[in-house]
Amino acid sequence: AKHEGANRYLFFNDSMNKLAVKRLQVENLIRHGLKEDYFTVFYQPKMDIVTGQLVGMEALVRFITPKKGLISPASFIPVAEETGQILEIGEVVLQKTCEDVKRWIDMGLFHGRVAVNLSAKQFMLPFLCEQIDDILQRSELPSYHLELEITEGTVMQSPTLAIDTMKKLRARGIHLAMDDFGTGYSSLAYLKQFPLNTLKIDKAFIDDMNTARGRNMVDTIVTIAHNLNLTVVAEGVEHAEQLQQLKQLRCEIIQGYFYSKPLSAHDFGLFLKQQKQQ
Ligand code: C2E
Ligand code: CA
Ligand code: CA
Ligand code: CA
Repeated sequence: AKHEGANRYLFFNDSMNKLAVKRLQVENLIRHGLKEDYFTVFYQPKMDIVTGQLVGMEALVRFITPKKGLISPASFIPVAEETGQILEIGEVVLQKTCEDVKRWIDMGLFHGRVAVNLSAKQFMLPFLCEQIDDILQRSELPSYHLELEITEGTVMQSPTLAIDTMKKLRARGIHLAMDDFGTGYSSLAYLKQFPLNTLKIDKAFIDDMNTARGRNMVDTIVTIAHNLNLTVVAEGVEHAEQLQQLKQLRCEIIQGYFYSKPLSAHDFGLFLKQQKQQ
């Protein structure tokens, strides 16, 4: 009826249209940001749970514009994924990360691995390995300093193809981590077939460790990971109590505000110097 049509029109106007406009604004902002080099990389330490020593870090993209300040990844990554701009952002992140890490290695401040997040679109690129080879070569960073974090959603889109790409990356000495484990859909049958090194437990599970049920859940995930010979990283660790519980559960590595928030390259350099003196 006419009445219904009007309602539909209003609905479109009020919410869908606003969403589309917002999306377009973010898309334009990203395009401008890429042109002006407003994308930068922060680093969050990953610590050995037993020794408390730094073993690596996760590279996290930051979008900082002079006008709007820091724009959270939660607001621009989904848009960038949709528009495909994530491909260019991902390339910038990888290039900058490799340059930063090469510098810290040359200064004698670091010898571990840096983990970089790969979006599904990036992981599916037919020339992903060649692109990574190029970036490593340009920055003169040996491949064994690199780890890539991918999610269940990414690999489950096409598990057979994913295994193929993962094997190619592993052949180069690059490590692979399953990110946000337990939040997506993946089958144990596949998990066994993926050539992974690391399993990252999502922060949501760590948050739930204040209940017996939640601790059981993390215990189960750690057991699965160890049965598959994977190193376990717990993300989003904020409290000493969580650290103690994770230690008891034999989780190997922790990442979270308990040790440090993600730091700018400058501040992470200072963190590395501090670590060295310990
Ligand atoms: P993620 O890969 O799960 O990264 C961990 C997120 O948790 C980061 O948020 C980090 O800052 C935050 N975090 C770490 N420890 C704590 C803690 O103790 N407490 C709390 N409250 N938060 C903590 P961030 O940097 O905002 O990134 C959000 C998401 O955006 C990432 O989740 C990842 O999915 C995506 N992302 C970030 N950088 C990149 C990138 O370079 N490429 C791609 N494709 N995605 C990225
Ligand atoms: Ca990650
Ligand atoms: Ca994660
Ligand atoms: Ca997460």
